[in-house]
Amino acid sequence: MSSASGAGPAAKAFRTCIVIPCCNEQEVIGHTVQVVLAELDAMAAQGLVTPDSYICCVDDGSTDGTWQEVLRCAQGTPRATGIKLSANFGHPNALVAGLFANHHKAQVLITMDADLQDDVSVLARMMALHQQGKMVVYGVRTERKVDVLPKRIAAWFYYSAMHAMNGRTIRGHADFRSADARVIADLERFGEANLYLRGLFPLIGYPSAQVQYERRGRQAGVSKYSYAKLMSLAWQGITSFTTTPLRMVFYAGLIMFLVAVAVACWVLWAAISGNPIQGWASLALLLALFSAINMICLGVIGEYIGKIYKEVKHRPRYIIEATA
Ligand code: UDP
Ligand code: MG
Repeated sequence: MSSASGAGPAAKAFRTCIVIPCCNEQEVIGHTVQVVLAELDAMAAQGLVTPDSYICCVDDGSTDGTWQEVLRCAQGTPRATGIKLSANFGHPNALVAGLFANHHKAQVLITMDADLQDDVSVLARMMALHQQGKMVVYGVRTERKVDVLPKRIAAWFYYSAMHAMNGRTIRGHADFRSADARVIADLERFGEANLYLRGLFPLIGYPSAQVQYERRGRQAGVSKYSYAKLMSLAWQGITSFTTTPLRMVFYAGLIMFLVAVAVACWVLWAAISGNPIQGWASLALLLALFSAINMICLGVIGEYIGKIYKEVKHRPRYIIEATA
């Protein structure tokens, strides 16, 4: 991990935009904006960001008073801006909506959650690393104490699987990161519908660093990620980013073929030696086993076909209804 200290006083302050996706966050968003603005002021005083650095809240189809809260914040200061999406397009799409709307206006763009689970004191460390020439800084969680045990175990399996299939995944990194505007311009060229940002940033490259932080509990409201949604995100991450499961299907086929050859030899030998195997139990078992494996393999292939289907339609990833 790189150290965040040592930026000289002559280092350049960057105009920074903090992108905050919000889906039904009316209880917390006003408070979050205040806390982040105060942090931006403190960083401006230290010469880490320019005084006109600002926030962009992206309302991802909230059905509560989130947008009214964003408008209220925007009326109070020009440093709080907002984008309202026309429907719920999902967290990654809300993030890119905010990033693409602002990378011509800001020099560094940071994405963080609306619930203050991402520690705001890390922002200064991120900016110090940008002053040292880093183009992307990943927030990495050291502790998952706030998550319940099943979520921690699932996270461990997920990151291990991702790492085994694609060495570039950063363990413990979610969507708390800062990136130079140039990196966001490059991200814009990735037109894929199946957005997996955690994997895309390491793929884009450029000098990067990691800052570790302890993830806190939610300030207010409830998590928008149910277990089912988390599982779908994990599967989406794996299939959007690596074709290893397809290769595993091929290996499964190969193993099944070898097993079939062994069984055939055994059956032939038994028939030749005048000792045919009795009953259909072994047959039924083999049939059930092979059809199950076949179904799983078809499911995996189907998942990729589904992804191709989504990609070829070229639907817009988000639609902006209003700005503030
Ligand atoms: N979010 C979003 N669209 C969604 C779901 C979530 O913009 O469809 C936002 C949400 O408002 C929050 C962030 O994504 O700012 C992370 O969501 P949450 O805190 O519910 O997830 P958790 O921290 O529990 O994993
Ligand atoms: Mg959260």
